[in-house]
Amino acid sequence: LSPEDKTIILDSIRDIPDFPKPGIVFKDITTLLSNATAFKTLMDHLTERYLGYELDYIAGIDARGFIFGSVLADRLGIGFVPVRKKGKLPYTTVAEKYSLEYGFDEVEIHIDAFGENGCCTTGEPSKVLLIDDLMATGGTAKAAVNLIDKVGAHCVEACFIMELAFLNGKEGFSAPVYSVLEIE
Ligand code: AMP
Repeated sequence: LSPEDKTIILDSIRDIPDFPKPGIVFKDITTLLSNATAFKTLMDHLTERYLGYELDYIAGIDARGFIFGSVLADRLGIGFVPVRKKGKLPYTTVAEKYSLEYGFDEVEIHIDAFGENGCCTTGEPSKVLLIDDLMATGGTAKAAVNLIDKVGAHCVEACFIMELAFLNGKEGFSAPVYSVLEIE
């Protein structure tokens, strides 16, 4: 990604202080999505990066990971799988709990989302790219990687548009991590 393209993407993201609660600077990607140049620059970069990976599926995290993930899946000519918050998926699911600052949350995936036993037609574990808009503590994405493992598929990489690097979310991650923008 050229420094110019990085600037186009970074400048299209808006900081909203004290949302959803005091002390949090929320990274608002709606302004990236509505900026056709920035959105295309980002998706061109991700398409170029992942064309050579021979992926079988993209898994996107609820809800902003759905947007980037489905565009990328379409561009790569592969399927898209939603990782959803608890209680939203209609068929048999596998679930993974993860802790938040206070309490816990839970994500789910359909048991057959990546093929029977998580395998593609050759019988090999399906190669999956996980994608979300932002990694903060990494708790959500780590739970999603565990889900991909649990159903028998393989998470080749976890990709984020932004990473809040000072939170060290990458630590203890069982898959390689790629972040388009690292926020110090
Ligand atoms: P975490 O599990 O702590 O890595 O949090 C990641 C999830 O929370 C992602 O789905 C993000 O979309 C969302 N998130 C966390 N912090 C922020 C932030 N500062 N701005 C925007 N989204 C955030």
